[in-house]
Amino acid sequence: MATTTVKAYGTTAPTEDLKPLDIERRAVGTDDIKIDITYSGVCHSDIHTARNEWNGSTYPVVPGHEIIGRVVEVGNGVSSYKVGDLVGVGCMVDSCQTCSSCQKDLEQFCENGATFTYNSPDKHLEGKQTYGGYSTSVVVDEKFVLRIPENLDEAATAPLLCAGVTTWSPLRHWNVKKGDKVGVVGLGGLGHMGVKFANALGAHVVMITTSPEKGKDATRLGAHEVLVSKDEADMKKHQNSFDFILNTIPVGHEMDPYLGLLKIDSTMVLVGAVEPLKPFHGGNIIMGRKRIAGSLIGGIKETQEMLDFCGEHNITSDIELINMQDINTAYDRVTSNDVKYRFVIDMKSLK
Ligand code: NAP
Ligand code: ZN
Repeated sequence: MATTTVKAYGTTAPTEDLKPLDIERRAVGTDDIKIDITYSGVCHSDIHTARNEWNGSTYPVVPGHEIIGRVVEVGNGVSSYKVGDLVGVGCMVDSCQTCSSCQKDLEQFCENGATFTYNSPDKHLEGKQTYGGYSTSVVVDEKFVLRIPENLDEAATAPLLCAGVTTWSPLRHWNVKKGDKVGVVGLGGLGHMGVKFANALGAHVVMITTSPEKGKDATRLGAHEVLVSKDEADMKKHQNSFDFILNTIPVGHEMDPYLGLLKIDSTMVLVGAVEPLKPFHGGNIIMGRKRIAGSLIGGIKETQEMLDFCGEHNITSDIELINMQDINTAYDRVTSNDVKYRFVIDMKSLK
């Protein structure tokens, strides 16, 4: 298949910095859309993958699954988009479309394996991996392209494609509603979207953080209370009081302190720690019939619903815009907990 060479940034080994790379994009097929990428968000998952922290990386890795751009070419069979449309691509670019998960709009759980936006075997280019949004353009099947409300700030919508849907989906699935007491653990890229969404859904939102200095921001973002998890007395005050907790901590951690916060029959959902957790005491879920659950991004239909909700309620991310060349510093700032609250790359800097 004919391909086009485009500029990208990626890494060739877990310990190497990201650097300029040339990658191949496939020719636009019948159902494909070619997108000129304008902005690309920086997710903590990009760092886990670039550094092989989840042990599944195939190099080179070109991260980026919070992609915003304009349609520059469409295939003959494309009916939903035209040249010039503002569109997004999130964490997935393909799935089988026929298994029971895909039929239920849960492509992220495709039984034949969803194709993720980067570091997945590429169905179209044999022997190649998918390469993500740290690049000047991408070619994607229209079924995995999202429509971006034009009233929103273009750069600040990029993080909605992953951080947005990853927090929206569990809040909706566990039916968070007006008056519920909802805890969001970790004020980073995901957490700050979780706070905004839980607030917009009418919940009483408590930011649960290790960083007391983030309290003011948490309140500005929509938290009604701030709970510093290192403060044992404060944690005790909130014991057995939460209807729902969304936990975005990016590493394995002690679960018992958070389980103690849940009410009878309520749930804590993990989205961050894709790795072994510290052992926790069974009694902390047995007493109170509590639940620990997990959640992975969201399906395409649900992602579009989230974007439309953001358009109606004028919700975007709080971002710091960077140039592509600053990516290695940005990675170090994310891992040292110094991001407010999502880095977004201005892709003009790579063109
Ligand atoms: P992030 O911006 O780095 O935010 C993580 C936040 O967690 C930090 O700001 C910090 O908040 C808190 N934190 C960090 N280390 C901690 C520790 N050792 N103990 C307790 N709290 C800690 O990361 P992100 O982009 O939001 O991503 C969060 C995690 O979700 C990552 O692991 C990412 O790979 C994963 N993820 C999962 C999905 C999914 O579909 N399930 C999708 C996207 C990302 P405070 O300072 O407030 O404590
Ligand atoms: Zn992500």
